[in-house]
Amino acid sequence: MQGDVRGAAGRALTTVCLVGAAAAAAQAPAAFDSTRAYTHVREQVALGPRPAGSPANQRTREYIIRTLAASGYKAVEQPFEASTPVGRVKMANIIATLPGGRADRIVLASHFDTKPFEDFRFVGANDSGSSTGVLLELARVLRAGPKPALTLEFLFFDGEEAWGEWRDLNHTYGSRHYVTAGRASGTLAGLKALVLLDMVGDRGLNFRRDTNSTPWLTDIVWAAARRLGHGTHFLDDPFAVEDDHIPFLKAGVPSVDLIDLDYAPWHTAGDTLDQVSARSLQIVGDVVLAALPEIQARLLK
Ligand SMILES: [Zn+2]
Repeated sequence: MQGDVRGAAGRALTTVCLVGAAAAAAQAPAAFDSTRAYTHVREQVALGPRPAGSPANQRTREYIIRTLAASGYKAVEQPFEASTPVGRVKMANIIATLPGGRADRIVLASHFDTKPFEDFRFVGANDSGSSTGVLLELARVLRAGPKPALTLEFLFFDGEEAWGEWRDLNHTYGSRHYVTAGRASGTLAGLKALVLLDMVGDRGLNFRRDTNSTPWLTDIVWAAARRLGHGTHFLDDPFAVEDDHIPFLKAGVPSVDLIDLDYAPWHTAGDTLDQVSARSLQIVGDVVLAALPEIQARLLK
């Protein structure tokens, strides 16, 4: 009996401590944890090549949805069929939503497919394991923080990569489908800004300003990087990139692409886990988190 009483008192004390810890956690926003982001990169690489339409691509989607569920999201798939140089291919984007004070939304995005290659094994640690890993960790952190002013959407694109040469409409299948579907349903109107991440894990992190991206959005991200002391990784050199942000820009959505194309193993068998640096993932996660309030403030003006 006495043992039971002591046990009950012990349990009561434990409960009090847990409540205290939960209250503290609610006040202090969670920090971006590059160890978690890196784990997501490793798990994707372990699935092997993940081109659109492959069983490993399906398993990648399952991993993304499972990880989002562990962070408290009910992610949904947006399935579609794309006409490609290799015929009709079934693809699916993944969407997770964090409701904000307003229904108008900011989308944070990454593609999760890897480029199909016949002649070598391409596991795409940096392209696109890195950005997908960062996006999953951003989803976790932002949900643990205060309710955002605008709704945040975490958007994972399938089918960014081309079969063979990047030309005509042989690329960005997922982002083009998302924009087309959003225009048809009217949901694209509530999309106020897109922050796209692609190849963000290179040890020698060097972002250059994409001239296709929206200047004010790029300015905010670059300023956030300088504020955090990461300015040396965000260069002012201009260059033009075609990526998943182009369909959004064409639809009038302000967009910025954070992409480091200065990466020797790009689209080679050498794009392996050892090329990805947790420190780079941390820098990108921190910069996006620092830029988000500024982006929201600008949109609320
Ligand atoms: Zn690529």
